[in-house]
Amino acid sequence: TYTLGPKIDNWDTQRWKWLEQNPDFPNIVGGKGRVLLVTGSPPNPCDNSIGDHYLLKGVKNKIDYCRLHGIEIMYNMAHLDKEMAGYWAKLPLIRKLMLSHPEVEWIWWLDSDALFTDMVFEVPLEKYKEHNLVIHGYPDLLFEQKSWIALNTGSFLLRNSQWSLDLLDIWAPMGPKGVVRDEAGKLLTANLKGRPAFEADDQSALIYLLISQKEKWMNKVFVENSYYLHGFWLGLVDKYEEMAEKYHPGLGDERWPFVTHFVGCKPCGSYGDYPAEKCLKSMERAFNFADNQVLKLYGFRHKGLLSPNIKRFRNETDKPLKIVDELDIRRHIVAGS
Ligand code: UDP
Ligand code: MN
Repeated sequence: TYTLGPKIDNWDTQRWKWLEQNPDFPNIVGGKGRVLLVTGSPPNPCDNSIGDHYLLKGVKNKIDYCRLHGIEIMYNMAHLDKEMAGYWAKLPLIRKLMLSHPEVEWIWWLDSDALFTDMVFEVPLEKYKEHNLVIHGYPDLLFEQKSWIALNTGSFLLRNSQWSLDLLDIWAPMGPKGVVRDEAGKLLTANLKGRPAFEADDQSALIYLLISQKEKWMNKVFVENSYYLHGFWLGLVDKYEEMAEKYHPGLGDERWPFVTHFVGCKPCGSYGDYPAEKCLKSMERAFNFADNQVLKLYGFRHKGLLSPNIKRFRNETDKPLKIVDELDIRRHIVAGS
């Protein structure tokens, strides 16, 4: 069967040795595990040029968040492995990045169509010190309902470790494009509640794997739902004004969602599950909602959540540092608990 690469079975030892020999590249910085945010898009232009514009907005949004929180960012447009094209591309990529960046403690995969909508909230890494995979979802949907949307693989953190390499190895075999992926799709549809008939996808494969090998893996998997590590866009995008009125960034949950993910939208492809116009409008709203949080320090905000244009809301001052003290997000971090 398919493999991601040569079997490695002593990665933790190899990596710890390397870390000892390279104290200039620590895996823990300022008491926190070093995080690499990884995202990407296909190597070629989108079918529609508006799709490329929203990919650009997606990148700008991620750069903003990562700059504010000292997170490194990696944007991939290459298909490291032809067989694993599409949503499966993240698997060989994550493995490659783990092995090439031993200093990185956590790889955080985030889909191109997921936007940070809470620029203040931070992932509470401290809470996951005993875990290797952190993913948004619901345990009852997973183990009782066996639902194909019990977890979402558009946003998850994977610890750089032997455990994670093993998980990737056992997760990957349904990925190769063609007969293998098609046949595996049938198995997944037969076993997961609500799953339409289509080729195997990485999300269903992970869900199926965790259900069928619960004992082996779940003690190191944190199924998170106390905040929106992934937040389904419908039901969130219409409430941004209301949230802004009642709450403040830093909450990360339904009051002020950390991530808004445009599942089923496919702005860069042609076949989404929702009307393209609704998707694009909603993405514009999410982007501007986030961008307002970034622009606040500079005294500007968007004219409305649908407007790319901005207006000044504060007069210039001869005491600018007062504003820095008050509004620089980096000084007011809220880690979820
Ligand atoms: N992706 C990629 N290269 C590809 C196709 C997809 O890097 O060739 C990434 C992209 O970030 C995308 C994610 O994989 O958001 C999930 O892919 P999918 O086709 O499921 O897109 P989505 O459901 O996010 O629209
Ligand atoms: Mn997505």
